[in-house]
Amino acid sequence: MTDLKDIDDAILIKPKDKNPLKDRDTECAGLFSDRDEAEALTQENAEAINALQDKLWAEGRRALLVVLQGIDTAGKDGTVRGVFNACGPLGVNVTAFGKPNEEELAHDYLWRVHRAVPKKGVIGVFNRSHYEDVLVVKVRELAPADAVEQRYEQINSFEQHLTENGVVVLKFMLHISKDEQRERLQDRLDKPHKHWKFNAGDLEDRKLWDDFQKAYETMLERCSTKHAPWRVVPADKKWRRNAIISSVVRGTLEDMAPDYPKADWNPDDFKIQ
Ligand code: ADP
Repeated sequence: MTDLKDIDDAILIKPKDKNPLKDRDTECAGLFSDRDEAEALTQENAEAINALQDKLWAEGRRALLVVLQGIDTAGKDGTVRGVFNACGPLGVNVTAFGKPNEEELAHDYLWRVHRAVPKKGVIGVFNRSHYEDVLVVKVRELAPADAVEQRYEQINSFEQHLTENGVVVLKFMLHISKDEQRERLQDRLDKPHKHWKFNAGDLEDRKLWDDFQKAYETMLERCSTKHAPWRVVPADKKWRRNAIISSVVRGTLEDMAPDYPKADWNPDDFKIQ
């Protein structure tokens, strides 16, 4: 069994860590070496997360925001399915951030993000996030470089604001190798039932692999803070990825220790006829 400290020793980015992606393993075979055990643990974690979410909702004082970032095919959707599969639809809100629409572009880039932050009692999951505004926007030069440059600190302040207002923020970068991405893209071409997932635009982004990795590295260097650190998850193996993320989510909720509120009335005072 791998405990949380061992996981964090391998994946947590400390504030001001330099070159956090350099030589970072996308496999990490030492973390959860047995697939069956990892899958059983993920299921156990998913059920524990569901039970904790129920208390979080009943307590109604705090929220948990889980940010998932990764290049195409990194496994963001699969993580949502694997980690939150036991939670009822009432307690978990998943928001996918695609290309901003006209209304969103007419506002500042954090507007749509702040609106999607989970309310008290809820777990919110961001499938892509405000970090696209320093990733794809930077690589594809969709905003002026000096505006992007200001965003790292703006994002840090925004997340600090959230954490000071009862939202615990967990951030996971799903880290896969270039070879693994090739296999996953090829799989989408080879299997007719996966054709719907194939997007020719993903091949364009793949050509910019090094630029994206560099943008991710800068993001990790500048936005891994004490209040909202980044974790880089080795994601070449889906089962290891799910075991890691579900363990961190469960551990975080256990540390938050939500509890059912005590009633300020006596059940004996009521009689149901
Ligand atoms: P996914 O690839 O996550 O399954 P989509 O096919 O809808 O989902 O792709 C979302 C696309 O939106 C990605 O290419 C991503 O780079 C892009 N995107 C997300 N946020 C922004 C943003 N703020 N500005 C420009 N493009 C963005």
